[in-house]
Amino acid sequence: MPTFPPAPATPLLTPADTGWDEARKAWNLAVDQHPAAIALPESAAGVIAAVNFARRHDLRVTAQGTGHGAAPLGPLDGTVLINTSRMRRVSIDPVARTARAEAGAVWADVVSPAAGHGLTGLAGSSPGVGVTGYTLGGGMGWLGRTYGLSANNVEAFEVVTADGQLRYANPASEPDLFWALRGGGGSFGVVTSLELRLFPITEVYAGLLWWPIHRAGEVLHAWRELTHSGLPDEFTTAFRFMRFPALPDVPEPVRGRWFAVVDAIHLGTPAEADALLAPLRGLSPVTDTVQTISMPALGHLHMDPEHPVPSVGDGLMLADLPAEAVSKITVVAGAETGSLLQVVELRHAGGEMKRARPGNGALAALDAEYGLFAVGMAPTPEAASAVGYGVRAVTSAMAPWAAGQMYMNLADTSREACGFWTPQAYERLRRIKAAVDPTDMIRANHPVPPARPALAVTPEGDHAALQPAG
Ligand SMILES: Cc1cc2nc3c(=O)[nH]c(=O)nc-3n(C[C@H](O)[C@H](O)[C@H](O)COP(=O)(O)OP(=O)(O)OC[C@H]3O[C@@H](n4cnc5c(N)ncnc54)[C@H](O)[C@@H]3O)c2cc1C
Repeated sequence: MPTFPPAPATPLLTPADTGWDEARKAWNLAVDQHPAAIALPESAAGVIAAVNFARRHDLRVTAQGTGHGAAPLGPLDGTVLINTSRMRRVSIDPVARTARAEAGAVWADVVSPAAGHGLTGLAGSSPGVGVTGYTLGGGMGWLGRTYGLSANNVEAFEVVTADGQLRYANPASEPDLFWALRGGGGSFGVVTSLELRLFPITEVYAGLLWWPIHRAGEVLHAWRELTHSGLPDEFTTAFRFMRFPALPDVPEPVRGRWFAVVDAIHLGTPAEADALLAPLRGLSPVTDTVQTISMPALGHLHMDPEHPVPSVGDGLMLADLPAEAVSKITVVAGAETGSLLQVVELRHAGGEMKRARPGNGALAALDAEYGLFAVGMAPTPEAASAVGYGVRAVTSAMAPWAAGQMYMNLADTSREACGFWTPQAYERLRRIKAAVDPTDMIRANHPVPPARPALAVTPEGDHAALQPAG
């Protein structure tokens, strides 16, 4: 193992240090990370020190807030893992309606203080997911059909680029970098903080409808019809096949039992939502928890695991969900399959997330109607391989309806990077990467490779400022 002198201003662990095994754990405990060293910065200065240290030692760097998205990273040989979990400060500006979150903040760190000011942010389904990784990848949350992707609701980033410079990226100061960070992923630098728009929402009408899993087929057909019925953007739903493990820490009423579950979240009046939910309620759910709840409570609605777990999962975006697709997924994920997957989810996308507004970032829109994600617990390599097989059975069954564009936050395996963006956006991302990190020092879980010099030259010369040095 190489030995490194201590870097200034930031704790740096090597494999010989006490605490190494704890520090190298990702939230997804099935991912066994072996970086060359781990930096644990407490501020932007610590991040600069870690990046400079890596450059001086010919190492690469990768940033991680929680490790929810660690599975596609691949081996970390020759890489300094910059773990930002000690940078979780959040401040709310109630007048500007913004939150400034440090890079390691998770959504609960933003949603709770924002609620104190009658505001909320565009969190995803889990309060423990990192604001930064989620937003760099796009960020599809329960309010996304109304307000769009989290990435397209960022005002500014502070980011340390591969040259060790701390840059303030907003539309005026760094238009290209600002554009790339909004949905282009973590390839462009180590974000140290971001400034997010907040919205004046204190409550939503939301909850879950539950059926035993043998009803999944008829419920899913009804849900499909609901999502095809021209729903208002304010109304968001998801359908899940759920299998709760028979483990002691799982609440007794659901322990070891299997269900079909619909999540419903509405930003309008309860009466509007009740009218929309009538066809599903007509199928007599065994439990119906839909009621007015606070925004912090919305974070727990989906029951995502809030502590680290070993899991294997993967997803797809779907262009459509015809009746044939419903029948097919019910065969591979329903009651009869003996599937090992804990969750197979179909989430209704669309709405504002599908509108590529001028001024949006690299992921201007998610051009798909549904997000599909399948996941199971993988505490051992054997379980990981069996669950991986089950995940692939679901994604291959649904492949005929895959959208042309994939979404990196639902991709838990390595994919062809070009599939996440439009061809034009991907080429622009590669040129920006070549300009800010020509030697590809910064690694992301879904990397954008720098443009080769020939690609970086645009005939129009409109990206002259983005040519790689030399
Ligand atoms: C339980 C669960 C629920 C989820 N729910 C949703 C959801 O509702 N909607 C949705 O869109 N996605 C969801 N996701 C996917 C999630 O958004 C991605 O896995 C995302 O990458 C997680 O970000 P993170 O910072 O927590 O993870 P990390 O693994 O820490 O980071 C993921 C990647 O982001 C980049 N990154 C992180 N921090 C930095 C930084 N400071 N600077 C530069 N790059 C950085 C890196 O490339 C890193 O590899 C969910 C995932 C899980 C496991």
